[in-house]
Amino acid sequence: MNSTVKRMNRNSSTNLIKILLICFLIIAISFFVYITGGTKKVFVHLMYIPTILSSLFWGTYAGLAAGIVCGILAGPFMPLDVSLGIMQDPINWISRLIMFSLIGLLTGYMIDRINRLNKEKQERNLISPFYNHLPNEKKLFSDIENCIKSGKQFKIISIKITNLNEIEKYVDNKLAFDIVDDLAKKLMHYCGEKRVYSHEKDELIVLACENCVEGYEEKIKKELDHYSSFPVSTNGYKIRVSLKVGVYVHQDEDNSPIEIYNKSRIAYEQGEVNESDVYYYDDSFKDKRREIQDITGAMLESINRNELFVVYQPKIDIVNNKISGAEALVRWKRNGKNFIGPNIFIPIAEEIGFIDKISKFVFSSVVSQVEIWKSKNMNIKCSVNTSVKDLIHDEYTLWASDLITGKNANRSDYEFEITERQIAYNDKKLIEKMHYLKGLGYQLSIDDFGTGYNSLMSVGEIPFDKLKIDKYFIDRIDKTEIAELVRLFIEYAHTLGKTVIAEGVETEEQLNKLRKLKCDEVQGYYFSKPLLPEEFEAFYIEFDKADK
Ligand code: C2E
Ligand code: MG
Ligand code: MG
Repeated sequence: MNSTVKRMNRNSSTNLIKILLICFLIIAISFFVYITGGTKKVFVHLMYIPTILSSLFWGTYAGLAAGIVCGILAGPFMPLDVSLGIMQDPINWISRLIMFSLIGLLTGYMIDRINRLNKEKQERNLISPFYNHLPNEKKLFSDIENCIKSGKQFKIISIKITNLNEIEKYVDNKLAFDIVDDLAKKLMHYCGEKRVYSHEKDELIVLACENCVEGYEEKIKKELDHYSSFPVSTNGYKIRVSLKVGVYVHQDEDNSPIEIYNKSRIAYEQGEVNESDVYYYDDSFKDKRREIQDITGAMLESINRNELFVVYQPKIDIVNNKISGAEALVRWKRNGKNFIGPNIFIPIAEEIGFIDKISKFVFSSVVSQVEIWKSKNMNIKCSVNTSVKDLIHDEYTLWASDLITGKNANRSDYEFEITERQIAYNDKKLIEKMHYLKGLGYQLSIDDFGTGYNSLMSVGEIPFDKLKIDKYFIDRIDKTEIAELVRLFIEYAHTLGKTVIAEGVETEEQLNKLRKLKCDEVQGYYFSKPLLPEEFEAFYIEFDKADK
């Protein structure tokens, strides 16, 4: 309110200055024409200046009025020749008056038209290019700014329709637009017609500032919940609309509208890809995202900067009490000091397509290491973790086979660990590839078994050699129902002729229980943490000695 009053005061004072300037110019020019001898001299044409200025300042009518005033002042009362006292012919001053008025009128009209076109252009700039009844994010930013200036409390609710692109491309282009249209109307009902904005095709934003209906937030949530819970029917298809909602409650410390809007988007990005839910902004989201961006950038240089290396965790054959092999696990020591766990950087590497470089680095390090150990009479079979992206494309597996052939190594010394979850998501193509790899002579294992929602029956269709029971079950093996489940896993794998290894064994009790359940191998801190190659050698020698 204050700022509007201030702006009005400022406008009226500049207007007053302009009026005074025009009056001064008209009087000064009239006086100048008079003292320089009358209208016979060319100076009378100076009257165009206040006429045109008036049109510039206030448009058509002001230009016309100024033209008439100038024409009259330089008209019947102004002599043609002051010294001889000769007055002007009426036709003379009347035609001049008409000329001044026309110039004022036309210039003013042109200026008005230009201003109108500019205004229209500005208004068009504030409208969504996709939904011409909705304002866009530029208008949102300017309205956020007004809300901040007015000191009112407000919230931003961003609604992303995550599958709109797919609906548009693969189902029905018009349906996609109808969904947004319908949703926008519902939101307008709760928060006002001018408070619903669109960004891109698939995002609606509500600026809940004032004039929202009582309990609007709950009502909007209910509406959105309805959207994602009930299918939309079209052309015989039933479509689910997947929505992610981010809410940001404005706090006084934010400074820019873009920053405020981004916080509501950061909030909705927290959810899983196809999950529909409402997320409230929290400052930690931003820090987490920033950290991920930072890790992503640094990871691209990690191999060239020799920051990656491989450690080996021994696997113990608990039937024959000997080391049965090792699992290779990648490590990243960023800048030579900060350890970043594979659980953090491997998913990022998979997302940005850097995983193939890491997988190749790990596999070539492993093959070199296993061959070195072989030369020292240590026969260690080694497993590597693989990403399904590596396995689906031929490039990695062909490269791996060339590497093995080049080093004259034995494929059966190498095992690819594939998590059960990946197998569950990518069944057919991956299973074919697993058959192919087995045919080449590699060992295959199902990692993190029990967490990937495969039914035990479908396991029979997967080509593998070893089942790695996830640490989740080992941690809870003292519970009878879990122990029974583990027994079932082991018995079933044994009927298929496969080996079973338990992951994350940390205590003697767990080990004893697994022995009782007839588990073949274990891996875990009870025997050893993942080790550097030289530490692994020392462990190998020690274990061998203890056994004898
Ligand atoms: P994973 O393949 O299931 O590896 C087992 C994880 O459990 C390893 O964590 C290992 O250090 C840890 N572990 C082993 N025994 C114990 C124990 O007794 N107690 C506890 N608390 N933890 C134990 P790490 O090295 O942090 O690796 C985590 C995951 O990252 C791995 O799970 C694997 O999925 C992935 N990963 C590691 N290295 C690679 C790699 O070279 N390529 C790919 N694609 N993924 C990798
Ligand atoms: Mg593994
Ligand atoms: Mg595992």
